[in-house]
Amino acid sequence: MVDLHTHSTASDGTLTPEALVDLAVEKHLNAIALTDHDTLAGIPGACVRGNERGVEVVPGVELSAKWEGSGQMHILGYYVDCENDYLLERLQWLREHRQQRAQRIAARLKRLGVPISEHRIMEVAQGGSIGRPHIARVLVEAGHVASISEAFDRYLKDGGPAYVEKAQFRYGEVIKLIRLAGGVAVLAHPATLQLPRESLEASLKRLIRSGLQGIEAYGNHDAPAETSFYENIGRHYGLILTGGSDFHGANKLGTELGEYFANGLPDTDSLLEALSQRRPARTAGQGSSSS
Ligand code: AMP
Ligand code: ZN
Ligand code: FE
Ligand code: FE
Repeated sequence: MVDLHTHSTASDGTLTPEALVDLAVEKHLNAIALTDHDTLAGIPGACVRGNERGVEVVPGVELSAKWEGSGQMHILGYYVDCENDYLLERLQWLREHRQQRAQRIAARLKRLGVPISEHRIMEVAQGGSIGRPHIARVLVEAGHVASISEAFDRYLKDGGPAYVEKAQFRYGEVIKLIRLAGGVAVLAHPATLQLPRESLEASLKRLIRSGLQGIEAYGNHDAPAETSFYENIGRHYGLILTGGSDFHGANKLGTELGEYFANGLPDTDSLLEALSQRRPARTAGQGSSSS
């Protein structure tokens, strides 16, 4: 079993990268990808612990992308080079904007009569990439709402009264950024594009022309029937099919590490082999001893 979509305290998950690997051991997973939002900070710690505990850790990242639709488009980058200066610089820029956005959301909440401490948001984020789940937790702590999901429903959801858009790059730039850093670009949870099937196919074609290489066909957002649609369309266009839970620990209740509609997912070795084969040629040998 493999889970290629997870978040740690480096962004908006609640487990440290090390604790995430420990949980993977408990759950008998043989590989996980750490795909924090806009940061690679958790990867070294996860890799070290993965080596110690016998879990393969795929370095990853998740970026939100601007596009013409109204749903959310998130793109995963697997096997990116964690020392790529350009990628690191762009991610840092995104994180700085996340911080400014958190201040703007806090200002909106204040106007809505549910003030929270900006300082407390920073504390909860522990220096990681700040996201709405952190703000939701502070709203719970302050007693303004009973749960994280209530915080989203009443204030933070897309288009909600305290919602502020994130700074993000267009999808073509996101894919290019990932690939320039030696990574493989995969569309995360395709259901959040909120498109009917025919339009999803058209959007997917545009993404592929921009360099998309895979689709997260196996996930948590979809009914099993949706999974087979993503499998078919992904195969039709020669995309690699990946799977993951989008685990966030206590910040996203109802999602467990390694638990998602994985029926049909190939075995871990074949999947990771297929993924790494998509890496650009000049970095494909990185980290391996092949001549
Ligand atoms: P952000 O990147 O700051 O826009 O926050 C996005 C994160 O918030 C996603 O990774 C989701 O896990 C989480 N999220 C989005 N909508 C909801 C919701 N309705 N309830 C709980 N968590 C949510
Ligand atoms: Zn998240
Ligand atoms: Fe996502
Ligand atoms: Fe995610």
